[in-house]
Amino acid sequence: MPRLYFDANASAPPNPEVVEAVHRAMAEDWANPTSTHREGQRARFRLEEARREMAASLGVAPGELVFCASATEALHLLIRGLQSALGDRPAAVFPGEHSACLNPLRDWARVAWLPELPADCATVVQMAANNESGILYDMPAVLDAVRIRDCAQAWGKVPVDLSGCDAAVFSGHKMGGPRGAALLWMRSGLPWDTVMEGPQERRRRGGTEDLPAILGLGVAVRHLPERLAQHAALAQLRDAFETEVTSWNRGIEVIGKGHPRLPNTSCLLFRGKNGEGLQASLDLDGFAVSTGSACHSGSVKPSHAITTLGYSLDDARSVLRFSLLPETRSDEVEALWRALKRLT
Ligand code: PLP
Repeated sequence: MPRLYFDANASAPPNPEVVEAVHRAMAEDWANPTSTHREGQRARFRLEEARREMAASLGVAPGELVFCASATEALHLLIRGLQSALGDRPAAVFPGEHSACLNPLRDWARVAWLPELPADCATVVQMAANNESGILYDMPAVLDAVRIRDCAQAWGKVPVDLSGCDAAVFSGHKMGGPRGAALLWMRSGLPWDTVMEGPQERRRRGGTEDLPAILGLGVAVRHLPERLAQHAALAQLRDAFETEVTSWNRGIEVIGKGHPRLPNTSCLLFRGKNGEGLQASLDLDGFAVSTGSACHSGSVKPSHAITTLGYSLDDARSVLRFSLLPETRSDEVEALWRALKRLT
């Protein structure tokens, strides 16, 4: 039995055309886009062509997109860059944000947790989709604050709507693109200062652009419509999986049930069971899944994404996340639930 991968929300395999594009670009488009000679100009042309294509897909202006290496980097540049202009006023932040977003907020004078919305709040941070539970969130209706949207998990799985936002981040390696390419979108005119000096990306992100990864991301973006359609079809498979496992009456609970969710994500609470142990047993049986915990310096910390939904720390240690790939088949899901039935 080949191994089965149910951890798309961590990283999804790149589309084969993406792998080919990155491979070709590493052989042909290796020149530095900042160089002024003909090779550099060709690289610059390819870079700007990819930027225009991605901007058109997102419905934003090409000049508002900054190429970064990861969504983590994009969030750091964005939040730290806003901080020098706005950081003495409060930020209103969704408590279930990813640590990539919470970490750069540490130096703000005050962070209020949504739904608290201080009158003088400078920025509102609300992820589009939670990485653990898959729950989808709307942007709070605020007008006079910089509205930040983390679309790292939503991109490629559900349509992304940037109306009502001023800045957003996108990650390539979760939507069929390569690692090493991500996007920061900032509406022009934001009160933002450069934190990573360098001539590239209109002085907004120093460092030579990773052109092969960016061109690979461009190919993945071209495939977005079919990826979205594949994801829409996954909801039925995911729902059937959840109906099966909850029918056993073994205390398994679907986290986020009844909320709009990412169609590929099933976050299950195996009350009284050890999530890490269960994950390790599934791994031995040939299934890659994820616990709701993050490993920090050797100690396992239960996910705040789960505890902010009102679950206890013990419950958070009993959670597994199953995130399906666009091409996941029903027989693969059946193999998964049969393994779970043996192990729980
Ligand atoms: N934001 C969310 C919601 C995520 O799930 C992740 C990664 O899991 C990130 C940001 C960071 O993305 P990257 O791996 O591109 O740094």
